[in-house]
Amino acid sequence: MCLDIDDTLIDFSAACRGALAMLIGRQDMWPAWERITDRHVALVVAGEVDYASMHFRRTQCFLGELGVEVDAEDVLRFEARRKDLVRRSWRLFGDVLPCLDWLRAAGVLLAAVTNASGEHQRTKLADLGLIRFFDYIAIAGELGVAKPDPVMFHSVCAKLGCEPGEAAHVGDKLRTDAVGAREAGLEGVWLDRHETGDEVPDGVHVIGGLDELPQLLVSEFARVGVPAQR
Ligand SMILES: [Mg+2]
Repeated sequence: MCLDIDDTLIDFSAACRGALAMLIGRQDMWPAWERITDRHVALVVAGEVDYASMHFRRTQCFLGELGVEVDAEDVLRFEARRKDLVRRSWRLFGDVLPCLDWLRAAGVLLAAVTNASGEHQRTKLADLGLIRFFDYIAIAGELGVAKPDPVMFHSVCAKLGCEPGEAAHVGDKLRTDAVGAREAGLEGVWLDRHETGDEVPDGVHVIGGLDELPQLLVSEFARVGVPAQR
């Protein structure tokens, strides 16, 4: 079982949103931040820039859109304060630990699969006590390949010692996580925490929370049995 990290296990967007609002004193710029982030992350995934310069360029671009005159020092200072605030406010969703406990008890091998940078993600997982649950942590920034590239999913399966058809991947991004996994031959599960009601392609499973994952595994994926009571 592969699980995405940001906005699947960790309420990362809420932390980022809160930090941004605190720094600029207004709430309405989150959509702009998300749009700028998506554009800059695509450059990283395409191998055109590394994470550190992406973070700098994203913040520079954002402050420009805000109409603030800044030099490189200002950008670095803003980005350092933003990261610090985010780190102090990221939290696990309430359904994460019961789900991970259940999966471990059922004997399911677990991988965390993320498109973020390495150092940053390892800090997050360690801060929140998650590392102990995972047999393998796949980080795009370290592997040089990112979801939804099938190479990313296949390399995780190889690390876990299973075929893609024996694995499932759960994540909050419909295309990147669920559809990408399905196209790589895994079971693709979309975690739609906000119940957006977006149309889902055939063959993709949908859950509204990780509390629904055990039921899905037992009813749909024959290899997973209910763990014995401990
Ligand atoms: Mg995510």
